[in-house]
Amino acid sequence: MSIFANQSFEGRSAIVTGGSRGIGRAIVTLLAQLGANVALADSCSETSQATADEISEATGSRVICSMIDVSDFEAAQEMVKHVLNEFGKVDILVNNAGITRDDLIMRMPEQDWDDVINVNLKGAWNCSKSVIRAMMKKRYGRIVNISSVSGQVGQAGQTNYSASKAGLIGFTKALAKEVASRGITVNAVAPGFVPTTLTNDLPEELVNQMLGITPIGRMGTPEEIATAVAFLASEGASYITGQVLAVDGGMVMM
Ligand code: NAP
Repeated sequence: MSIFANQSFEGRSAIVTGGSRGIGRAIVTLLAQLGANVALADSCSETSQATADEISEATGSRVICSMIDVSDFEAAQEMVKHVLNEFGKVDILVNNAGITRDDLIMRMPEQDWDDVINVNLKGAWNCSKSVIRAMMKKRYGRIVNISSVSGQVGQAGQTNYSASKAGLIGFTKALAKEVASRGITVNAVAPGFVPTTLTNDLPEELVNQMLGITPIGRMGTPEEIATAVAFLASEGASYITGQVLAVDGGMVMM
């Protein structure tokens, strides 16, 4: 399978956090279809394990499950150690795991701020710090962070989530500058509105409001986000670093 030039992932190994459903699952599937061995890193429930087996069978690539709570630094180090034991190297890290705990700041408990920042932002730092030494040794790496339009323009009711996703953009740019000379690129993808369990419970009024400001006039699909991630994770994207690629139907034009 091939979707653009210089994108074979044969011989590459990847970690996708939160890879068992939604956008993460589509990323795992596409990377595996393109030939990569992939570790799906999440709570490693029976469903995650079944997802890994299903994708492996369908694509012929090795797809394994590696347990992690991304907000826990020691767990991130253990997860990376496990993947290095299984695959021998990590070429690609996709920091995709994310949660929402929406509410107006007036009502938001402090715990909801902490949880969202710890999973969405600290989680990306934990996983990146855990893989970076191995990537530097190989003088090759691709890190792709999943940000959001909420991090680019802010969304009422999401002070925690918007801050975490804006933080990921700063993190992407800073890390890109630190590791560029070692053959490692670091980029972000900022999805617009994609139907997944994360967005299931949004009030219809908000959904219509978001569609109203989306020039393409529909929601995105997990596969459309995965295509952008695969491009940035490919060898063909070797001269792109520190960038934020919006995949949002034109909602945010910067
Ligand atoms: P989703 O369907 O809810 O999936 C989230 C994934 O993250 C699950 O696999 C979940 O695994 C994992 N996860 C959550 N907390 C974790 C933790 N502490 N440690 C490890 N894994 C954890 O969400 P999604 O819509 O696909 O979102 C994927 C990413 O895209 C997120 O970063 C989200 O912020 C971003 N995004 C989504 C949209 C959208 O419209 N859907 C828009 C912009 C950005 P478990 O079930 O094992 O916890």
